[in-house]
Amino acid sequence: MRIDLSGKVAVVTGASRGIGRRTALTLAGAGAIVVLTSRGDAAQAVADEVVAAGGTALALAADVADADAVQRVIETTTGQFGRLDILVNNAGITRDQLLLRMKREDWDAVLATNLTGTFLCTQAVLKTMLKQRSGRIISISSVVGQSGNPGQTNYAATKAGIIGFSKALAREVASRSITVNVVAPGLIDTDMTRDISSDAQATWASAIPLGRLGTPEDVAAAVCFLASDAAGYITGQVLAVNGGMYA
Ligand code: NAD
Repeated sequence: MRIDLSGKVAVVTGASRGIGRRTALTLAGAGAIVVLTSRGDAAQAVADEVVAAGGTALALAADVADADAVQRVIETTTGQFGRLDILVNNAGITRDQLLLRMKREDWDAVLATNLTGTFLCTQAVLKTMLKQRSGRIISISSVVGQSGNPGQTNYAATKAGIIGFSKALAREVASRSITVNVVAPGLIDTDMTRDISSDAQATWASAIPLGRLGTPEDVAAAVCFLASDAAGYITGQVLAVNGGMYA
């Protein structure tokens, strides 16, 4: 099955590197126009890559926790391209610490980006999708939101929250042919996980039935499928891309 997203407009948050970057490149490779957001101008290089490959891309600076900045991204997108078909809520951070030692600011920062950011971006695209009577909202959770992980109570709370948020919204907007799904990656080889010590990485890898860390490509392929017409009857679901580490 070849996925064709020609004529579709996609917004990918946190698209400057890692999973977001690869997702934007994959969606563009399938023919979508992509709008890449990041906090600074770091997504411009990825937009340049898309354009160099013959695609259409726009990089915009926006912190996903800043409601006005998010609104500007969505208005610029619909103003420039006339529609908005796919939102990928990918921007995410970690601030790991055992709960007993966790600072309030680390709790707040992770909630603001991972969960409030997902809320703000999703709410901002919804009017357009409701009017279009179509849309795909795909949010990146984590295996940690399903299984838990010591030292990540803040992160796990946001990633489990994304699942509940998406299941509730899926029921709200299904009658307008908007699907809302979650991709829950396992341990993926990106800058985020390169901070984990190699000992800890090896321990995790040994617990992965498929015997390796995932790649950004593994996650991007799942997002691209959920964004496609082929996934039109799938909503409110969590697609785990974790090599079997949690089933
Ligand atoms: P990464 O750190 O390499 O990239 C995160 C991206 O989000 C960057 O572009 C960063 O600039 C952007 N970002 C962070 N805070 C932002 C904000 N407030 N506003 C806008 N952009 C912001 O991480 P990654 O590994 O590519 O992770 C991407 C997503 O996948 C995250 O939501 C992460 O929680 C999730 N995830 C990652 C893994 C993994 O093992 N790497 C596993 C499960 C889930």
